[in-house]
Amino acid sequence: MEDCLFCKIIKGEIPSSKVFENEYVYAFNDINPVAPVHILVIPKEHICCADKVDEKNSIYIAKVFEAISQIAKNLDLKEGYRIVNNCGENAGQTVFHMHFHLIAGTNFGWPPC
Ligand code: 5GP
Ligand code: ZN
Repeated sequence: MEDCLFCKIIKGEIPSSKVFENEYVYAFNDINPVAPVHILVIPKEHICCADKVDEKNSIYIAKVFEAISQIAKNLDLKEGYRIVNNCGENAGQTVFHMHFHLIAGTNFGWPPC
């Protein structure tokens, strides 16, 4: 996707602070963190949102969750962490390349709103 911000980050056309990368997944620090740890974990295939996950691309989402588990170990997030995916405008999605917020380092409340 030519005009996608996160596709450009994956290609290195826009700089990012990389945390993890493999064939399927790229992870980098959020530019506007809401917690002491705030990492965006994204599939390397352009999938706009959760709504568009299907049997052809779901391998990327499985790999995202493998990556999250690895990142949590690497960063020693023993106290726990939250994974957030916003799907669509009412949920607050602003970048339409599917991404998972991995946030940690504080005690989060529930329900979220
Ligand atoms: P959403 O609101 O779509 O769930 O999350 C988009 C996230 O992308 C936000 O947390 C925002 O701070 C982050 N973001 C937007 N533009 C950039 C950027 O250029 N670089 C980085 N590292 N994060 C970005
Ligand atoms: Zn994209």
